[in-house]
Amino acid sequence: MEMIFFWLIFSLIVGVYASNKGRSGVGFFVLSLIFSPILGLFFALVAKDLSKPKEPTSETHKKCPDCKELVLIDARICKHCRCNFQSDQEAIKAVTDNLVTTSELSEYEKLKKHLAEYDDTKST
Ligand SMILES: [Zn+2]
Repeated sequence: MEMIFFWLIFSLIVGVYASNKGRSGVGFFVLSLIFSPILGLFFALVAKDLSKPKEPTSETHKKCPDCKELVLIDARICKHCRCNFQSDQEAIKAVTDNLVTTSELSEYEKLKKHLAEYDDTKST
């Protein structure tokens, strides 16, 4: 009875392990159940890991605008042609950092008004 219990548990573990490797969890579970969990584990260990995508996708890579080669999406400089990608957000931030803030602007307006009043009192 215990033997069946462990057989089932280990088959389940093999199935979960195989599924983490991008393989069919149910397939390896059934394989382990029919043959042996040890044999199933062996096949799961030998099986190639499919969980990591080998092909570059639009989520991991982008096309360089200059040389049209695929580079990692987080890259700042193209590894093929050294083209510098500055993301739109970074470009906008660079521009807005140089702009004066609205509070600075109102302070400037106040000073200008003050100066104008001072000039008025001086001239009269
Ligand atoms: Zn490039």
